[in-house]
Amino acid sequence: MSSKTWDYIAKIVMIGDSACGKSSLTIRLTDNTFSDTHDVTIAAEIGSKIVPVDDNVFIKLQIWDTAGQEHYRAVTRSYFRNATGCLLVYDVTRRDTFSHVQEWLSDLRAQADPEICVLLVGNKSDLSETHREVAADEARDWANANGLMDFVETSAKTGDRVEEAYLQVAREIYYKIKGGKFDVNDKAHGIKMNSAKYGSSGAPEIGLDSSKDVKDKGGCC
Ligand code: GDP
Ligand code: MG
Repeated sequence: MSSKTWDYIAKIVMIGDSACGKSSLTIRLTDNTFSDTHDVTIAAEIGSKIVPVDDNVFIKLQIWDTAGQEHYRAVTRSYFRNATGCLLVYDVTRRDTFSHVQEWLSDLRAQADPEICVLLVGNKSDLSETHREVAADEARDWANANGLMDFVETSAKTGDRVEEAYLQVAREIYYKIKGGKFDVNDKAHGIKMNSAKYGSSGAPEIGLDSSKDVKDKGGCC
């Protein structure tokens, strides 16, 4: 178990078609494990991990792993609210999942904070040599054209670039906090500051249960 102190909690949403690896990416980050069996996510589950974003500054990522199925979409959309970061996931071996990223992004942007940090993630890179259906250049071009922060190919199976992907989003969120783009005192933003570290004025209620997190205070690294 981690005993790191977090400075901020940020809400991250995992979106994209079913079976792209959203749950597997989340589990790889939080537990460093992988399973070949596909447990369908019901509506949404939450995982969390404390990651470093600067010298002695840590963000606790609260990861909302959403269901990709069409019939859960109404529920899924409600989870977009308050999100400050997003991994928009497709499967590099299934062209149709890349065809749907535009739709996912439009849904997200209709609900989420305009400043939300969105990373395009092509998952299952371990299968790319034999089964690739989406070229990296095409995905990168799409990410640039649509104002996403970046694009990365990952493998939840091998762990390749998984932590890096989440870290990139965490760092971007931190830059935006520092730049005043996310107001940590506005509960419309999915950011919570550690009141034990920064004083109670910076501890808005944003519907994130953090009562058990304050005990993390004290340890580091
Ligand atoms: P979700 O519906 O987007 O949450 O997808 P899951 O995480 O449940 O994964 C769907 C299936 O793809 C599962 O059988 C996983 O084992 C498999 N999978 C997920 N990520 C990878 C990966 O990086 N490489 C490979 N080869 N399979 C993966
Ligand atoms: Mg899932």
